[in-house]
Amino acid sequence: MTKYNGCAVITGGSRGIGASIAEEFAKKGFPVVINYNSNEESACTTLQKIQNNGGKGIIFQCDVSDRKSVDAMTKKAISEFGKIYALVNNAGISQIKLFTDITQDEWHKMVAVGLDGVFNCCQSILPYMIHEKNGRIINISSVWGVYGASCEVHYSAVKAGVIGLTKALAKEVAPSGITVNSIAPGCIKTDMLLGECDEQTLSELANETPVGRLGTPQDVARAAVFLASSQADFITGQVLGVDGGFC
Ligand code: NDP
Repeated sequence: MTKYNGCAVITGGSRGIGASIAEEFAKKGFPVVINYNSNEESACTTLQKIQNNGGKGIIFQCDVSDRKSVDAMTKKAISEFGKIYALVNNAGISQIKLFTDITQDEWHKMVAVGLDGVFNCCQSILPYMIHEKNGRIINISSVWGVYGASCEVHYSAVKAGVIGLTKALAKEVAPSGITVNSIAPGCIKTDMLLGECDEQTLSELANETPVGRLGTPQDVARAAVFLASSQADFITGQVLGVDGGFC
């Protein structure tokens, strides 16, 4: 049976999908580490909501692409809560651009946040999970990581990389009692999507989604909580689509 002792570390937990994941984990009784990069106010708002509902947590600023800062976050999580049960690699950035216009710097930044960030957090936290012979890693990919998106080649490549990392790492750490899964969300109404689409495009995306609406952060958060639950003990190395049938 799964032991739930330890906290959940959620990268990019200040806003959007990550904030909802932090709230859902807190509702299940996990203390949460809400990581953010620059938006301290949103991180505080998320923590306040959790505390108002009787949950526990801390906020922690760190750029997931910076290994030293990630290690500091891991140490803080351990010193504050003793153990880390779950890691949700959710932090991410996006950009819409023709492939031929993507600069080297933009490519490297996309990889640094979206893929190095997942590597850094997994490698920093895994020794503690392996010591416990227990843990859950959930990596937020995207439908574009599975199917590819025009004008988002760097984003799609990074999200496909997250899936490869998930599948391989799942095999490596399964004997240590740790599961590693990925979620591939479809179109979810957050700052990221709103920054890319005008009202008309949003309504077209909702129409193209078979269930007839855009996803909510909570749709993704519930899937993440499921993958961390004892019901998902035998599920590892998988990509769970949360896309309303979009792909
Ligand atoms: P948002 O833009 O709403 O939020 C992004 C979050 O990531 C923020 O908390 C932000 O922190 C954090 N973040 C960004 N860069 C860094 C960094 N370098 N280090 C640490 N944290 C960082 O995005 P969403 O909630 O929409 O997306 C969350 C995840 O879901 C992403 O990985 C995204 O690719 C994926 N996704 C989203 C979809 C969608 O339709 N929205 C669809 C498919 C996948 P801060 O607040 O400090 O800026």
